[in-house]
Amino acid sequence: MQNENRELDIFFLPFMSHGHMIPLTDMAKLFAARGVKTTIITTPLNAPFLSKTIQRTKPLGRQIKIKVIDFPLSNSGVLPPWCQNLDSIPSQELFITFFETTSQLRKPLEDLLGQHRPSCLIADMFFPWATEAAAKFGIPRLVFHVISVMSLCAWQCLKLHEPHRRVSSYFEPFLIPDLPGEIKLTRMQLPEFVRQNAENYMTKLLENVIESEVKSYGVVVNTFYELEHEYAEHYRKALGIKAWYIGPVSLCNRDSKDKSPRGKESSIDELDCLKWLDSKKPNSVVYVSFGSEARFTASQLIEIALGLEASGHQFIWVVRRNKQDKDEVDWLPKGFEQRMKGKGVIIRDWAPQMLILDHEAVGGFVTHCGWNSILEAVSSGVPMVTWPISAEQFFNEKLVTQILKIGIGVGVRKWVKFVGDSVERRALERAAARVMEGEEAEEMRRKAKFFAQMAKNAVEGGSSYCDLSAVIQDLNSICS
Ligand code: UDP
Repeated sequence: MQNENRELDIFFLPFMSHGHMIPLTDMAKLFAARGVKTTIITTPLNAPFLSKTIQRTKPLGRQIKIKVIDFPLSNSGVLPPWCQNLDSIPSQELFITFFETTSQLRKPLEDLLGQHRPSCLIADMFFPWATEAAAKFGIPRLVFHVISVMSLCAWQCLKLHEPHRRVSSYFEPFLIPDLPGEIKLTRMQLPEFVRQNAENYMTKLLENVIESEVKSYGVVVNTFYELEHEYAEHYRKALGIKAWYIGPVSLCNRDSKDKSPRGKESSIDELDCLKWLDSKKPNSVVYVSFGSEARFTASQLIEIALGLEASGHQFIWVVRRNKQDKDEVDWLPKGFEQRMKGKGVIIRDWAPQMLILDHEAVGGFVTHCGWNSILEAVSSGVPMVTWPISAEQFFNEKLVTQILKIGIGVGVRKWVKFVGDSVERRALERAAARVMEGEEAEEMRRKAKFFAQMAKNAVEGGSSYCDLSAVIQDLNSICS
């Protein structure tokens, strides 16, 4: 390598969505806390989301730097100039355009790498081309995976064996061959481009992602070994990938000031929110949130509202709507907010999720199974109602409900890109009851607390701490 006897200097390139930028920033903090020089590369409109977090790293003595590169103009010209984050795309039709546009970041990235010659580049999984870009300058590239190692194994096994091509209907279950845990899915629960055997930009991108895992120097995953040990072994041994498991990275945020400025500004006064939770009994509140991208139709939101009301449990519900859905009244049942006064809080847009999940009043989490959300729930010892929507979330659901047994599925049958499937109020009511009340709930809570302790141990001197030491040592040895 070119950087002789220099201290380790790592550039991080997160994909432009909150579910990717948040964990990559946490990871940069972990490296910085070990004395590594760290720089996050982002675009002008995404930089403000990072700056509050970054400022808090000053006292570490190793402040993370930010380098800003321009977000490319989309070739088709249809991506509005204010749209630099997947979370802000104005319509689902622009989903692929957004991904295509981010591939043009390669040139400015190369300029930056050529100019600064860092010792390593850790780039998000959605930038498979970053391996070659870094190799041009003799810089090793690590892939950063923001998904579970179980999902990584599942994708590989699906690609290899294509069991979904051998079923006769969209709803016939098939077993994923070679994958530990007897995991069954249906074609309907796979991404639409996979179930339709389509060839498009996304299928090509996923193929390139899988290839880049092998071509890169290695892979760092936001998980911890004990949580997914069978898959962690399978990924390293059966699939032969050099991987370090260094999560849950969110646990680097220890006090409430670190836990609150993650992603966007909260849409609720955090102190009011915590005060409300303080007034509730332990394990009596359901937290309902579907991550940074998923959105629902008004009719589905009404079902959620009625399901929560019928469950009789107190709740905090985060609602994100499409930008064009301006009407406030049509997505809530008549009189709902008055009836729920004191019993439920609706947060419109962005919640301080880590603070909420960490509060002892929260006894259950209705989640879309985004991997960050699951790891955050695991780290806080909160059992889940699983409501997967898209991406790899159906694999994560299986991990939670079938392998870890700390959650109950709400019964989603179909993968959809953004707007959630229709789940009836009674399904939500039933699943919430199973997670919040009775012996089954107690058992899940006990297990969830056990995993929370394991997660803490992993980052405080255990497996994740050691894997982080190992990757730093490894990079030091090849870069000196
Ligand atoms: N998040 C948050 N407040 C919200 C919604 C999301 O802080 O109102 C954070 C959440 O804590 C997690 C990330 O955003 O760290 C969402 O990532 P996840 O993988 O769960 O879902 P995605 O947004 O990628 O679908």
